[in-house]
Amino acid sequence: MKRALVCGAGGFIAGHLVKKLKREGYWVRGVDIKEHEFSKTAADEFLVLDLREKQNCKAALSIQGAKFDEVYQLAADMGGMGFIHSAECEIMHNSMLINVHMTHAAATMGIPRYFFSSSVCVYRDMQPGEPELTEADAIPAHPDNEYGWEKLYTERMAMAYGRRYGMQVRIARFQNCYGAEGTWTGGREKAPAATCRKVAEAEDGGTIEVWGDGTAIRSYTHVNDMVEGVYLLMQSDLEGAVNIGCPQYVTVKELVDTVIEVSGKKIKVKYVPGPVGVQSRNFSNARIYSLGWQPKVFLKGGIQLTYPWIEAQVNAARQK
Ligand code: NAD
Repeated sequence: MKRALVCGAGGFIAGHLVKKLKREGYWVRGVDIKEHEFSKTAADEFLVLDLREKQNCKAALSIQGAKFDEVYQLAADMGGMGFIHSAECEIMHNSMLINVHMTHAAATMGIPRYFFSSSVCVYRDMQPGEPELTEADAIPAHPDNEYGWEKLYTERMAMAYGRRYGMQVRIARFQNCYGAEGTWTGGREKAPAATCRKVAEAEDGGTIEVWGDGTAIRSYTHVNDMVEGVYLLMQSDLEGAVNIGCPQYVTVKELVDTVIEVSGKKIKVKYVPGPVGVQSRNFSNARIYSLGWQPKVFLKGGIQLTYPWIEAQVNAARQK
């Protein structure tokens, strides 16, 4: 039985990844600074550790008389655009410490395969209609925010440790990911979850506020597709960064309209100034497609899977 360590397993994507690895027959240890907020972990063992500390990274990677076959590093001080713009120092300090210590510990302890969750925030801003950027186009680098710079540095660090220590490193650049059991309130939620929450909280006939003017272009990848891509990439020989994202590009307005349609309510939308991030996105998925990956969930189907879960959270919070 293969053994996997999943870092960040108390969070959204890694929580789903643990379930995927269990379905694939792994023995899984999850680690996070906190327990999973929304469900009991599917991991065989769960450690609560602060991975900014070197000795905690070593402890997470140690098993008596054995070694992990695979390490998935998804722990990060993470949030949506509001958080990314207001917590630059926390991101650059905390996520960097986690990655510096975890990459070093994994390589020096002889871990054979190491996954790092990067982001399409490593790319520059784009204009609508620009041709796709490939992974190589991240250099020369001009990320829109400090979160992107931290990811880019960590990618390079992981590859350097891979070369020096013979560790197979796999790197995915995630597009926006959404689904059930993700942060939906509190300031760290991303646009799909924030929109679902606002619509769920609004009265039928009411108005919600959305940051920006609705024209920014994004792609949203459902978490089920994302974890399939992560697993496939980890089992592959594909070195270097690999974009994983749904090729359905939509405006923020289309996202908002889809959520409203799925809710069944009549809601008015007021676009207000706020942190929007880049204007446009368009990335090649050729590398992940070469492994046979294709998204199965598109925007409306994904919102149909996500909105009822967030609506239930909103209703439960009201009753507290
Ligand atoms: P998340 O916040 O739900 O999960 C991250 C987890 O890391 C959290 O549970 C958090 O508690 C944990 N963590 C933070 N600091 C820690 C510490 N010091 N020690 C141990 N654990 C700590 O975020 P997510 O959306 O599941 O993102 C997972 C990864 O994917 C992150 O690296 C993120 O940057 C990357 N990513 C996510 C998206 C997205 O759209 N969600 C897009 C691009 C990249």
